[in-house]
Amino acid sequence: MSIPPIAERERAVLWPTYARAPRQFIRGEGVRLYDTEGREHLDFLGGIATVAAGHANPHVVAAVTAQLGRLGHTSNLYFTGPQVELAERLAGHLGAPQGAAVFFGNSGAEANEAAIKVARRWGRANRGPDVVGIVATDGAFHGRTLATLAATGKPALHPTFAPLPQGFSHVPYGDLDALEKAIGPGTAAVLLEPIQGEAGIQVPPAGYLAGARELTRRAGVLLLMDEVQGGMGRTGTFFAHQHELSGADGPDVVTMAKALGNGYPIGACLAVREVAEVMRPGDHGSTFGGGPVACAAAMATLDVVEPLLPGHVEAMGRRLAAGLANLGPGGLQVRGRGLWLALELGEGADAKAVALAALDQGLVVNPVTGTALRLAPPLTVTAGEVDEALVRLGRALGSSPDAVRPPGGTT
Ligand code: PLP
Repeated sequence: MSIPPIAERERAVLWPTYARAPRQFIRGEGVRLYDTEGREHLDFLGGIATVAAGHANPHVVAAVTAQLGRLGHTSNLYFTGPQVELAERLAGHLGAPQGAAVFFGNSGAEANEAAIKVARRWGRANRGPDVVGIVATDGAFHGRTLATLAATGKPALHPTFAPLPQGFSHVPYGDLDALEKAIGPGTAAVLLEPIQGEAGIQVPPAGYLAGARELTRRAGVLLLMDEVQGGMGRTGTFFAHQHELSGADGPDVVTMAKALGNGYPIGACLAVREVAEVMRPGDHGSTFGGGPVACAAAMATLDVVEPLLPGHVEAMGRRLAAGLANLGPGGLQVRGRGLWLALELGEGADAKAVALAALDQGLVVNPVTGTALRLAPPLTVTAGEVDEALVRLGRALGSSPDAVRPPGGTT
């Protein structure tokens, strides 16, 4: 495994915040990536569930190029047509009967910051000056700004950057009794991922999201849904929570980023009308948020993704999941939904080593936990590409004999 020459230069001039895999990609087309050596790879990670419409998608490229050539930026001091058009489309996808309104930022963390701010503003305005608490879940990932880090349910990440903003508590994911006990008089909102992404694509028990909706309604607190990784069609529905919640029973606030712009930076916080309406001019803002080019990228991405839902994403997801399960001796555990999957390699397995072996076979996946690989290819992926990826992953598993250890770890 050769280290690309850029690694040495990078060490001198970039913060050492990323542990990178040994590849420098310089070109992409659809599901394929090409590196500096001209090697072709199948991208089954999609920039971590981001490149939903495929690399260099011609429709997205044309929309971005045309908008940039016409008008690239005017600030949020003036009206921006594409921002309103995109907001109308996103509100339509939520389908809240009372309507919904968007705040645009540039990332998932910013979308979640907006959700936290609007929840606190709503809590104070509607329930009292001390109603600002947010209940989140163990293992959750919500971002790396200080407030979203405080919301993130990985306590080991917290002390290095203490003091963090106060008011966040955590309960086990999937446990409705614990959630009910944690909601108190000072709770403004519950913040959930529909499926926990960074925790290893952890799917909650059936009925968990519906139960959380019922509990939050009964307690008069908001339900915030972090769809940064799971949204925009990844699971087959536009939002991942829509397998269980929809329309009048949907969440009060939904956050998005990643796949929304197919890699062009954009984040969005969508709140039902009466929640969005608590905000006032100056309460929140962003220089770049909702800029015309980002919104053009997002609308073109939606043009590509919407026709793939649910049929294509479900069919490709089933094909990929079935093929993955068959890769190990006696079958392997596959978690997830649609084209958002984790392949559990078994206790003691080394997912990082397998991901590196896969790279050498021309397949991009990542170790989402120590023992599991994450697969989140572009939603445009074809059956032929799925089959080809399975062959490459099979070769990678074969080339690292300790890669797969069924429970008991004896093979
Ligand atoms: N929320 C979830 C569920 C995520 O998976 C991520 C990133 O992985 C974030 C928030 C943060 O997004 P960003 O890196 O764009 O700030």
